[in-house]
Amino acid sequence: MAAPQNTLHTLQQLKNTINEYNYQYYVLDQPSVPDAEYDRQMQQLLAIEKDYPELTTADSPSQKVGDMPLGEFMQVEHEVPMLSLDNVFDQESFYAFEKRMQDRLKDSAEIDYSCEPKLDGLAVSLLYENGELVRGATRGDGKVGENITANVRTIKNIPLRLRGDNFPRRLEVRGEVVMSRDGFALLNKEQIKNDKKPFANPRNAAAGSLRQLDSRITAKRPLLFFTYSLGLVENEQQPLANSHSARLTQLAQWGLPLSQELQVAKGADACLAYYRYLGEIRDKLNYDIDGVVFKVDDIELQQSLGFVARAPRWAIAHKFPAQEEMTQVLDVEFQV
Ligand code: NAD
Repeated sequence: MAAPQNTLHTLQQLKNTINEYNYQYYVLDQPSVPDAEYDRQMQQLLAIEKDYPELTTADSPSQKVGDMPLGEFMQVEHEVPMLSLDNVFDQESFYAFEKRMQDRLKDSAEIDYSCEPKLDGLAVSLLYENGELVRGATRGDGKVGENITANVRTIKNIPLRLRGDNFPRRLEVRGEVVMSRDGFALLNKEQIKNDKKPFANPRNAAAGSLRQLDSRITAKRPLLFFTYSLGLVENEQQPLANSHSARLTQLAQWGLPLSQELQVAKGADACLAYYRYLGEIRDKLNYDIDGVVFKVDDIELQQSLGFVARAPRWAIAHKFPAQEEMTQVLDVEFQV
């Protein structure tokens, strides 16, 4: 059945609005609406596209990752695309995701999931050649990011050289750069003292700090990196582990910072118990998280599940309910 005229109109409006939000958020680091409002509009767009799949165009924000990188930086082409994650916002949708995994894998055994905090920062790719950090890049639109090597080199917990010697000769490590909460509080105190605008939240401060043209400014900012996956891997000296969680543990042995909260859970109920646990300790962490990421742990199973347009099919972000949404954007003028 063809979509009614008013649905076509709403769809076009949603696309235009979300594209504008994306530009403000990803390119300018100046979100114009709270994340919950963005998510609400995106869910509305997805619902229309689900009812009328023929209306899903390749340029729809539902099919795209991030936005084009800023022209000021050199561009980096990602040899392995940097994708996003699909989201769920409630328990029922998480169960539906888990059932899809079971059905697709046609296996009655419970699936192991790597359970990780969803860090609220900026996705970054780090390329190591012969163990040496040679390049840092932002995700950009997933295919092309910005070369921010000089800036990532200033982040204190990013190793400039890997430990040991059994690492692949070319190894791309992916993770999130976040700003510590106490560092953020001190930075904003300093901004106010110096008559400068305070930052709206740690994510915004981290993004603005990392995309500075002068790396001396980045060096003064309290940034932290946490790894959560591998990208390109070439010339391995030994086979990589066959589960995602074991690969992360291997990255930690090579000196890369890993969240202490990583766990493996069997089946949907254990995943939801982890979600509740992380929700409870969320405020005690020294960095912001906005949910939990569940990833099918077995690499072979991941490969058989594959990808959809902008995200792996084998992973899902289960977001936490929004906190103090409107105040963050409306009460504070942004600083980048
Ligand atoms: P996302 O933030 O929903 O999820 C994907 C990202 O999660 C990855 O790219 C990675 O950077 C991050 N991540 C954190 N921990 C991870 C882990 N353990 N494993 C894997 N990835 C992990 O996706 P997105 O495409 O970057 O952004 C979409 C979200 O950003 C929206 O849902 C919204 O909340 C926010 N947003 C807000 C606005 C706005 O105007 N307020 C605009 C655009 C996007």
